[in-house]
Amino acid sequence: MEIDNSKLSPMMQQYFEIKKQYPDTLLFFRLGDFYEMFFEDAVTASRELEITLTGRDCGQAERAPMCGVPYHSAETYITRLIKKGYKVAICEQITDPKESKGIVQRAVVRIVTPGTFSDINSLDEKSNNYLASVYTTDNGGGVTFADISTGDVFSTQFTEKNYLQLLSGEIIKYAPAEVIFNSRSCLEKNFIKTIKERINANFEIIDDEFYSFSGIDKILDGRFKVWNERKGGLIEMPYSCYSLGAALYYIDKTQKIELAHITEVSYYDKDTYLQIDDTAKRNLELTETMRDKKRNGSLFGAIDDTCTPMGGRLLKRFICQPLMNIVEIERRLDSVEELTKKIMERDSLISLLKNIKDIERLLSKISLKTVNARDLVSLRESFKELMPLKQILSGFSAPLLKSLYSEFDPLDDIYSKIDMTVTDEPPFTIREGGMIKSGCNDELDDLKETVANSKKILLDIETREKEKTGIKMMKIGFNKIFGYYIEVTKSNLDQVPDYFIRKQTLANGERYITEELKEVEYKLLNANDRICDIEYEEFCKLREFVFDNSKRIKETADIVAYIDVLVSFSITALKYNYCKPKINRDGIMEIDEGRHPVVEQTLKNSVFVPNDTSLTKDISYAVITGPNMAGKSTYMRQVALISLMAQMGSFVPAKYANLCIVDKIFTRVGASDDLAMGQSTFMVEMSEVAYILKNATKESLIILDEIGRGTSTYDGLSIAWAVCDYITEKIKAKTLFATHYHELTKLEGMLPGVKNYSVAVKKRGDDITFLRRIVEGGTDDSYGVEVAKLAGVPQAVIKKAHSILNELEKGGQPNSEVEVQSKKEEPQLGFGSILADEIVSDLKKLDITTLTPIEAMNILNDYIKRSKEI
Ligand code: ATP
Repeated sequence: MEIDNSKLSPMMQQYFEIKKQYPDTLLFFRLGDFYEMFFEDAVTASRELEITLTGRDCGQAERAPMCGVPYHSAETYITRLIKKGYKVAICEQITDPKESKGIVQRAVVRIVTPGTFSDINSLDEKSNNYLASVYTTDNGGGVTFADISTGDVFSTQFTEKNYLQLLSGEIIKYAPAEVIFNSRSCLEKNFIKTIKERINANFEIIDDEFYSFSGIDKILDGRFKVWNERKGGLIEMPYSCYSLGAALYYIDKTQKIELAHITEVSYYDKDTYLQIDDTAKRNLELTETMRDKKRNGSLFGAIDDTCTPMGGRLLKRFICQPLMNIVEIERRLDSVEELTKKIMERDSLISLLKNIKDIERLLSKISLKTVNARDLVSLRESFKELMPLKQILSGFSAPLLKSLYSEFDPLDDIYSKIDMTVTDEPPFTIREGGMIKSGCNDELDDLKETVANSKKILLDIETREKEKTGIKMMKIGFNKIFGYYIEVTKSNLDQVPDYFIRKQTLANGERYITEELKEVEYKLLNANDRICDIEYEEFCKLREFVFDNSKRIKETADIVAYIDVLVSFSITALKYNYCKPKINRDGIMEIDEGRHPVVEQTLKNSVFVPNDTSLTKDISYAVITGPNMAGKSTYMRQVALISLMAQMGSFVPAKYANLCIVDKIFTRVGASDDLAMGQSTFMVEMSEVAYILKNATKESLIILDEIGRGTSTYDGLSIAWAVCDYITEKIKAKTLFATHYHELTKLEGMLPGVKNYSVAVKKRGDDITFLRRIVEGGTDDSYGVEVAKLAGVPQAVIKKAHSILNELEKGGQPNSEVEVQSKKEEPQLGFGSILADEIVSDLKKLDITTLTPIEAMNILNDYIKRSKEI
């Protein structure tokens, strides 16, 4: 629609003025009790939210398209728009309409974007909602993840040759809801494409000024202890710092206030955590399943026994960030051990933790000023548990638990302040009173008493005036026009004193007011308004007080989360009989009776068969052969998961484990969702292999579940062979390699460090039973046909497959000979003749003397049916 600016109504002029500044958002424009949207925004919002599109006169020939949502339920609508990837700018009335001359002033107070979304009711409580800020240069790049709903911020950088690959892996791993980056990053087309393909996020380029020293210094100065202490950090980790600065700039720009609960940032580099790239995270199903992205069926689902949302989120972080430092790992392990031993104390901790709400997200509501009195009650209820929690903690002696104890601030002063101020069941809104306890504000108490006693006060006045004047026929009444009055009947008018001021004449009397009555009336009529105002002021004061203590509260929330995770480790350990692993730096990976933490929980009708693992510096490469479905993948993943869990500081599903520190875990497992993205199975496989070979070190753990299968047998075998060769000769990483190429078992003895293993099966006739046991030595039988039979492939196909297999096994040159032989022997190999042979052989086995007539009839019937298939 063509807009003639000169004819726009003043309100619409204001609308356009504001909209101009926020072109890429949907503008929620406050009009009284509604947020209205106009023009294109209205068309989009009405379509996306399925709300009615109406129109409004705006001074133009055509009415402006308009739609709106009530302000009190706006959050739900905003959430829906954010989830669809829109940004919403909230424009409020910033002057009181009653006091404004002309048009009321309006301004955008907050922009809600997917990465800065913080609605506590809509976010998954056990997941973070990250904004990622990315900075790339020609020589390296950094990324900062910030969750404003919890105040968590962490940052890292990469300077390796393939820094872009590492950076995109890191970004994908944390699946941010929004990614912002500097303009140069756009030139890295593959980099951006990879991220966009993998995660469902909003992307935005930020002004390069904010990825510069002056930009970040402005933003960071005085804000972070870490920053202030080590501005030199900029020299050590410049890319990380630039990305941090831009993240905070973006948060300030959208939230329009400085968020007090973002107080610390943790920097990490490649040596801080065990590196798990996004592929390994996905393949090992660390936080969600590969197929349907569910928590159940993932490692997180299997070991999450946390009681608080904060603990749940921290556990997820621990899973993505296992430690490298032995001392720190052992500190965690010792704590878990003590928690598994002191059951009574641990159970008391659990019952306290269960009452603690999401302190972090409630705190973010304080910062964002979206908190209400009910939230403060939730905080109070949570804080109530802190002192007892600290007391119980004092009974533990593991060094980590002791240091958590000594750092633990039970926030008792904040608890008392909220407890003294807020009523137990305050209303949802903060403008209607009912939130503040008595004893907080003298005027408020007076007013509440006045209202409560209003009847009595009026009666007192009436009695007093009756006594003073001697008029018996006098009463106090109220009407809307004159307010409170004293009514005197005609016969008593001569006794009326001069301080009675006449207000109204009636047929049988007069109505008066007095100075005192006027005062009481003023107090009573204004009391309710005033009560709401004072309560609001007191609420704001309390909110400010809590806000000023954000840093303390966040630190305590972090400690609570930490305790929760350690307690959770101890619960899982006892529930599933895990053991405390030993940790070494000697390259030894020794696991007795290891189990897969997830598979063992999901097996319903069978028992999980534990398996041992023994890898050392000298024997570091296991070639695992065995039929499909035997349990090779489960076994290899279990080794990776046990390593990872140990480095998280968790006990592990095994009878005994002595594990070396692993720096990276790589997985190459069947091609998954890349296929849907247009890459061929073989391409995916090879690029994953390339990535592993370029990045693995001798401290790494590599899981190779078949390689070379997506191409011809000889190409595949050659590639697999060469990869083994390269890893054992050049990288020397601990490797578990499952393969169907039995030729590779020859590598034992040929290449240093290689040892053969296989999964045992029991074969009886055509049938096999999986024993799920990993045994030393290779196998040269795939039992592929038997597995096909187990899977229900028709008998005729199985028979034919057996015949072909026999022929192949006899022949020296399988490919060509099969062709020839199968053609030559077509008549014998035809399905018809196989089935006929089968019938004849079954008939021969029949002993007619042992059959009843009915059995004989049934068997005959069966032969008739089978012969019809020929
Ligand atoms: P493929 O080569 O076809 O990928 P695989 O040898 O890797 O097969 P897995 O996928 O590991 O086989 O295992 C198949 C199934 O066997 C699992 O889903 C699980 O139910 C069961 N299984 C595996 N290992 C064990 C075990 N140790 N104890 C009990 N059941 C197991």
